[in-house]
Amino acid sequence: MENLNMERVMADYPSFVETALSNRFIKHPEVIKLIAGLPAVFKAKELGLSAEGRSLHLIEWGQGPVKVFLWSQMHGDEATGTMALFDLINYLQLDKHSIALNDLSTRCTLYIFPMVNPDGAERFTRRNAQQIDINRDFLKTVSPEAKILKELQATIQPDFGFNLHDQLTLWSVNGTKRPATLSYLAPAFDEKLSNSPGRENAMLVIADMFDAVDSLLAGQIGLFDDEYEPRAFGDNFQLRGTSTILIEAGGLLNDGEKQEIRKYYFLSILSALNSIASKSYTQQKLDHYFSIPKNNKQIFHMLIHGVLLGDIEVSIGINYEEKPNLDGAGTTKTYVVQDIGDLDILSAYEVFQKPGATIKGDITLYEDANFDLLLGESIILSFKNGKLESKV
Ligand SMILES: [Zn+2]
Repeated sequence: MENLNMERVMADYPSFVETALSNRFIKHPEVIKLIAGLPAVFKAKELGLSAEGRSLHLIEWGQGPVKVFLWSQMHGDEATGTMALFDLINYLQLDKHSIALNDLSTRCTLYIFPMVNPDGAERFTRRNAQQIDINRDFLKTVSPEAKILKELQATIQPDFGFNLHDQLTLWSVNGTKRPATLSYLAPAFDEKLSNSPGRENAMLVIADMFDAVDSLLAGQIGLFDDEYEPRAFGDNFQLRGTSTILIEAGGLLNDGEKQEIRKYYFLSILSALNSIASKSYTQQKLDHYFSIPKNNKQIFHMLIHGVLLGDIEVSIGINYEEKPNLDGAGTTKTYVVQDIGDLDILSAYEVFQKPGATIKGDITLYEDANFDLLLGESIILSFKNGKLESKV
């Protein structure tokens, strides 16, 4: 895949994006339907059932010696990886990239396990139907989904693993005050954050991914928090010799359903596969991985400057929390006053800086937003009991 041109792939993206998946609330039947419709070049098999009896599936593609395992949506409310995997599956069927794809299929075999947690996806919750966080269940393995995922790694013994998640939209990229729209990490396999040849290969592939995608995404890629979690899958797969790469989808302005983010998520996976197939990662430097800016929390969802609170002028930081609706097909956002004071060093998805603007209502730290922001007589922003009523 040496001749992979990311800008051309990006321009072609609308021709292969999987349009059957168009928001974060995708469900098991949609995934099953796509798998059932796959051409014979993909070998799909049923792995077993979730706690509530939804089928779990593995899709195999390619004949190469380097085994690459990709799994998504261990957390049911983190659907971006699943969407990107089906974009990848469509991309793998394009004729016009046949030379590059032949290289990939002769050098690698892909094992794709989309939507590990369909019961969580049904409810749009992180946890499975047993209320278990599958990604904290590697050691005890009480959930059927964790058991299946763990056994797959032991059976396939993949060289590379892709652990596909979504992160909070409040992470930002250190030094930029912009959202960490994507984050990458080669998870640690011990408390000391030691290195091994396997973990280093994951770091080197990430360096290639970063080079391929960061400039396309305006520098909105960070390095995820590097903390060892003995119960998590990425950490344990890393320990067991699979060079494991974590990808996290964060936030992007005006992309609540992550339809723009999924494109960069797909491009990240594709560039990593290109790096693995061409072995270009062996030319990378570990320093480059460590030079990727870290994630921090320097953004709010909304930031209002120049607010008169009594007789002092302050800035107000507002964040929302999302709770899934009962049907699992949407969320309700509750806006909370997260900070008050000098917030000039921070930023937000939306910044309101209107000289002369006034507040009508109460502003209380950590309480639901319940006020109007007015410019003269007109309302710029209005919250009622934590709900966003209007925004100009
Ligand atoms: Zn997750």
